[in-house]
Amino acid sequence: MSPINHFAGQARELMRRDTTWPFLVTRRRPVDVSKDIILYLEELNVSFDGFKALNNLNLYVNDGELRCLIGANGAGKTTLMDVITGKTACDSGSAWFGQNIDLLAHDEAEIAGLGIGRKFQKPTVFEAHTVFDNLELSLRGYRGVWRALTAKLSGPERDRIEEVLSVIGLEDARYQSAGALSHGQKQWLEIGMLLAAEPRLLLVDEPVAGMTAEETERTAELLISLAGKHTVIVVEHDMEFVRSIARTVTVLHQGAVLAEGTMDQVQNNRDVIEVYLGEDA
Ligand code: ATP
Repeated sequence: MSPINHFAGQARELMRRDTTWPFLVTRRRPVDVSKDIILYLEELNVSFDGFKALNNLNLYVNDGELRCLIGANGAGKTTLMDVITGKTACDSGSAWFGQNIDLLAHDEAEIAGLGIGRKFQKPTVFEAHTVFDNLELSLRGYRGVWRALTAKLSGPERDRIEEVLSVIGLEDARYQSAGALSHGQKQWLEIGMLLAAEPRLLLVDEPVAGMTAEETERTAELLISLAGKHTVIVVEHDMEFVRSIARTVTVLHQGAVLAEGTMDQVQNNRDVIEVYLGEDA
């Protein structure tokens, strides 16, 4: 198989794998964050065969914040991410991106195009291609596969890739094939692939699962560095990691917000201790 066909085949495979692809939109609709809030979720309800995965959930996220979302298995964290990204429809409620964009009126691909990127737990990079090529492809989007291989990068595109390589700390690995990266490096590359499209909001699912202590520390630094320029929501079970990055923590329980505050506040919250943190708190 020619490299071009191979590359295109992998891109198609990635699309089939249900990955939210960060299509670059040339004229992205601006998000109105004049009230400093980028995500308004109100009275959200999602039921699966009568089971309430989300139960009148209310959540507000400020523009540029790094929010951690925790909760026991089945608390509704994934379902919430699925609603924000258009993967799951809700029964009732509202979900607004800034003041002006009704997320419930858009499908999954449109939501990715609005500037909401999602990083799933398992990295889905193009293993046979270099770190640089992975970023180049994600910068131009699936529609640009042929162009990515044939056209020269423009100055701003090259600058953007260099900037992302620096943010994710993979400058020295740029010509290495993605398949040869460590698990942690693959996770950073995938975050970089999302960053290439300059998302406003990044949803990151269990970023440090399977990472070494050193990789975990580096990931904490990376996520902290993204806040401000981007809004980041991290779902994570590793409490030590959450403590290391958290500014505000939201605890979900049975599809609703049980508590919200600093890590110390939620760890000392009686309800949280009872239903989630238990004796570890
Ligand atoms: P975990 O930490 O284990 O990933 P979670 O907090 O992400 O858990 P969800 O995956 O959102 O929880 O699940 C919430 C509840 O909804 C669970 O009881 C789950 O079994 C149920 N659920 C989720 N998706 C579906 C589905 N497609 N069909 C039926 N039930 C579902």
